[in-house]
Amino acid sequence: MKVFSPMREVEPAEGSPRAVFLDRDGTVNEERQYLADPEKVVLFPGAGEALRAIQDLGFLLVVVTNQSGIGRGYYTVEAMHQVNARIAELLAGQDVRFSRIYFAPEAPELPSHGRKPSPNFLFDARMELGIDLARSYMIGDKLLDLQCGWNANVRKCLLVRTGYGREVEASGDERLSKAVVVDDLAGAADWIRRDVGDCLRRPEIAEFSSNS
Ligand SMILES: [Mg+2]
Repeated sequence: MKVFSPMREVEPAEGSPRAVFLDRDGTVNEERQYLADPEKVVLFPGAGEALRAIQDLGFLLVVVTNQSGIGRGYYTVEAMHQVNARIAELLAGQDVRFSRIYFAPEAPELPSHGRKPSPNFLFDARMELGIDLARSYMIGDKLLDLQCGWNANVRKCLLVRTGYGREVEASGDERLSKAVVVDDLAGAADWIRRDVGDCLRRPEIAEFSSNS
């Protein structure tokens, strides 16, 4: 397991909040190459209900998104914020709220603080929100989403079959054996609910990182 920051050894305080970290495009909303128009935002069916269910389990929702289209000059930071605002607006009906949206605007070839698979935004969330990463989850549709979560030692990373997820699953990459593969956010919410229940019934399994 790669260690990116000495901060990962900090013990979380008792009762620290847990988070579900979410990729945005292809996970919450339909993947459109370089989405920059709020009117083109389409949430996946059931996404709002699923996120609400995760929230009701006591998790904070934190979005972690690579937005290289900004660095490539395809759209502005402001356009991305407008897309985020539209997503928030569509989810508000279910009382779903993102605690943070971390974005990496850099083009892939440039240095970046948080561009996935870097776990740095998850470490930022631990600092800023007090998140207990070992009891948190990552959900995404690309291998780099999963790698981001693994690099931060979250409890489990889930690949959704929406967006690029089905292609990633079909690739047969052996690293996927560490991941949980589910159809969509609803499947992820169900899996996390069961996992949380298992941890409550059998506290000893929660003491071990499931990806070690
Ligand atoms: Mg994605």
